[in-house]
Amino acid sequence: MTDCLFCKIIAGEIPSAKVYEDDAVLAFLDIHPVKAGHTLVVPKNHGDNLQGSSDADVARLMSAVRRVAPVVQSTVGADGYNVITNSGPAAGQTVFHTHFHIIPRYIDDGLVTWPHEGATQDQLEVLGEKLRGNLPKDAPAVCGSQGCCV
Ligand code: AMP
Ligand code: ZN
Repeated sequence: MTDCLFCKIIAGEIPSAKVYEDDAVLAFLDIHPVKAGHTLVVPKNHGDNLQGSSDADVARLMSAVRRVAPVVQSTVGADGYNVITNSGPAAGQTVFHTHFHIIPRYIDDGLVTWPHEGATQDQLEVLGEKLRGNLPKDAPAVCGSQGCCV
């Protein structure tokens, strides 16, 4: 897509510090890292968000996240990492090209952890049933590309 920042990075029109690249995925360092090593992993095919990307691209993306994340952790000496995607402005998405953040975490690093709301078992069961009813009936696709998930 012509007006997409990450498409321009993928095309090499905007510089990036590359961490990993294959035919379907690019990983590069975030320009405003939460912590050193903060890495973005993006599919090369443009999609606005997870729903805008194909199952095959998401499978390749997650495979790359799984490959890169422990290397980020060990390289910067972190104790763990978060893998996050922000979908929609309400969730903090600012670049509308599917991506996962890999954010190194340290014991007692003071970064925000999610606050939790309470819920009764009845509330969970009612909402679980509603969600099951709203899910599409077709099974998730198996991508089979490059042997990544078959
Ligand atoms: P999000 O807010 O989830 O859409 O994440 C977009 C991320 O892209 C932010 O963490 C930005 O710091 C990062 N970002 C923006 N421009 C660049 C760039 N030129 N190179 C690397 N990362 C960038
Ligand atoms: Zn794009």
